[in-house]
Amino acid sequence: MTGRTTPGAFQADPADRARLFDLLSSLIQGHIDGVGDLPATPDVTPGELRRHLSGYDFAAPLEPDAVLTETAAMLRRWTVHTTHPGYFGLFNPNPALMGVLGESLTAAFNPQLAAWSHAPAAVEIERHVLRFLGERLGWSGEESTGHFTSGGAEANLTGTLLALTRAFPRLAEDGVRGLSGRPVFYASAESHLAWLKIAHMCGLGRDAVRLVPVLPDLRMDHRAAAELIRRDRRDGHLPFLLVGTSGTTSAGTLDPLPELAALAAAEDLWFHVDAAWAGAVALSDRLRPVLDGIERADSVTLDAHKWLAMPMGAGTLLTRHLGALRDTFRVATAYMPPDTPDAEDPYTTTAQWSRRAIGLKLFMTLATAGRTGYAEMIEHQTALGEELRERLAAAGWTITNATPLPLVCFTDVPDAHPDKAAEHVRGVADRVTASGRSWISATRLAGRPSLRACVTNFATTESDLRTLLAVLGPPDPAFQG
Ligand SMILES: *Cc1c(COP(=O)(O)O)cnc(C)c1O
Repeated sequence: MTGRTTPGAFQADPADRARLFDLLSSLIQGHIDGVGDLPATPDVTPGELRRHLSGYDFAAPLEPDAVLTETAAMLRRWTVHTTHPGYFGLFNPNPALMGVLGESLTAAFNPQLAAWSHAPAAVEIERHVLRFLGERLGWSGEESTGHFTSGGAEANLTGTLLALTRAFPRLAEDGVRGLSGRPVFYASAESHLAWLKIAHMCGLGRDAVRLVPVLPDLRMDHRAAAELIRRDRRDGHLPFLLVGTSGTTSAGTLDPLPELAALAAAEDLWFHVDAAWAGAVALSDRLRPVLDGIERADSVTLDAHKWLAMPMGAGTLLTRHLGALRDTFRVATAYMPPDTPDAEDPYTTTAQWSRRAIGLKLFMTLATAGRTGYAEMIEHQTALGEELRERLAAAGWTITNATPLPLVCFTDVPDAHPDKAAEHVRGVADRVTASGRSWISATRLAGRPSLRACVTNFATTESDLRTLLAVLGPPDPAFQG
């Protein structure tokens, strides 16, 4: 390579390597121990960051120790610290220690999972974990299959492709132009709007997504869904997929899965459940009933990089239909290794081709925590969410969502002031994040502006709830009484 004797970017002699790994270890551990004392939210503009980076022109090599230290410093200074215990955020977790170690192993071994024969250990480790998750949903080990994805959006895209391929056998060769009508599908108005991008990417067009109205409790109105399906069929459209969201992103509400499963069966639609964050409760015997009906899904999205505390990106697409995966992603080439009897090559059953080992970190964390360790964490965070809800209500805030999950939406603006509400709650959220001690966000629930706080971090304690309430202060007297 370069012939340099100082440790290089590609290799280093054992002593230098050991020093660099020690440095990495101390930087990571320093971050884990110190993040609670950092501001959770950075204060920086794109211009400042670009000026800083212009100092790196890549003209001459730099010392690896310096590059490691300086890069960590940039991350420390200019990141919303989702690992901060006061981050009541958007499901971005504090990664489990075994998850971080698993990522490091994955990076170092760099197994290529496209073909089974290239990475037998990693492919089978992932399969083992996926089966476990499928069984927790209520499927038998035999029928339960799936794969890891970059996240929930890719998993939802895959669910849509499976549904299309099953509903329209000619679609694979002819495309949507070969169909007699327009394929349309159904998700609630409170669903995750990756569905719009997915409809776009699949060539269906964004208007193919029917956003079904919700009831006042923000759950999908399944009767309205049935009515929309009837109307679409009458108009010559081609319904093919019904999506239930278990744990909406804004409010954590749960669509009525048993009713939706029955509707999908009656209408012969693929039934996909988007349980990207809340699917984690499947690991708790106590909370699993929250997901009742999910076992009737054809496919499910469950992100490990949300409530299962994995470093990003780690989603899963779980399904009972291996045949649909094979039909959708089938391909044969001369240059790939030959297939292995009694095993799937992931490049023929998933959207990705080159594929990193996404599931090793979850395998290692599950093996270390046990299912019960996960269940305890999830139940504890659920209890903290309940406590946060009670404390906010006791302090005079109005709770605007209803969910058994640790996601609390609230406001101090009465319904009578919808015009002022959006700006006001945005201001409150900005004030909280500017404190650096807590991080919450603003959202809308069925159009109503609300604040939103979600317990996403296993390191969050009661004392962080108290800090959040202190930083929030009392409800705005201008709107009270
Ligand atoms: C987060 C989320 C998604 C998207 O998942 P990514 O991992 O961010 O791609 C989809 N659906 C729901 C309900 C989510 O909360």
